[in-house]
Amino acid sequence: MSLSRRDFLKFSGATAAGVAAGTGIDLAPVEAAATSLKIKEAKAFAGVCPYCAVGCGQLIYTRDNKIIDIEGNPDTPHTLGRLCPKGAATIQLSNNPLRPTRALYRAPGSDKWEEKPIEWMYEQIAGRYHDTREKYFIEKEKDKDGKEVTVNRLEAIASLGSACIDNEECYLLSKLNRTLGIVYHEHQARV
Ligand code: SF4
Repeated sequence: MSLSRRDFLKFSGATAAGVAAGTGIDLAPVEAAATSLKIKEAKAFAGVCPYCAVGCGQLIYTRDNKIIDIEGNPDTPHTLGRLCPKGAATIQLSNNPLRPTRALYRAPGSDKWEEKPIEWMYEQIAGRYHDTREKYFIEKEKDKDGKEVTVNRLEAIASLGSACIDNEECYLLSKLNRTLGIVYHEHQARV
């Protein structure tokens, strides 16, 4: 007989209940605890973990229009409800009181970090990208026969993608890098 994971869990639960009934164990406290689960009366939505191409299925629980829990979806055929530690922490994308909302900046030569608004940091990054590209962009280069060819290449900036960014952000970062001519283009997951 072959059992799906769901069947197995149902079967195990029924067996446990049977054992309890046969031994006179009072399951009322267990039942009471189960009904106070944090997902009680929450709406569940099926989703996909945003982080990597494994595409693990998730169940996203909401109450009062707020995400209250995210867990693996046991109906996902290739993962059967499992998530890696990163996927298991997906709720922190939505609910995270520790998430920094201001940038930390240490000026050249300084030994102190200063708090700066996020918008200030964006402007700094954009300005430095722009200035570096203006200064170092290589439009044409000679090939091995001495003939000038168009290369449109920028070697003065390297890009390292982060495991903290999701698939769509990785896609946008790739497009941005290619648009600027950046050739040193890597991702943390491959290093
Ligand atoms: S990050 Fe982890 S949970 Fe998310 S899709 Fe990849 S392997 Fe699955």
